[in-house]
Amino acid sequence: MSPRTPRPKKPASRRPTRQEASLVPEPGGLLDWRDSRHFSYQEDPCTLCGTPAMLRSHAGEPVHKTCAEAWIAQHPAEALLGRFVSDAQPKRRDDDHA
Ligand SMILES: [Zn+2]
Repeated sequence: MSPRTPRPKKPASRRPTRQEASLVPEPGGLLDWRDSRHFSYQEDPCTLCGTPAMLRSHAGEPVHKTCAEAWIAQHPAEALLGRFVSDAQPKRRDDDHA
């Protein structure tokens, strides 16, 4: 009997569910704030840089989108707690097939 060398198995690198992971952008990534809820006609000082901002986070914090993205890049661990997240994309595709 000749010993057979087992084939090295490639570990299947499965990522966590894309839907959830995508809500917090990776450091350096961009937020998806297309929802109108992020826009305010009132300018308030950005919670991060202090200059007037018309955007609001999901929590209602006045913040520039670029500031939030920079904050995520600088605080990746805190970012995972969900302070600034992208809009959830509803995955309803009722019109997928006729
Ligand atoms: Zn700012």
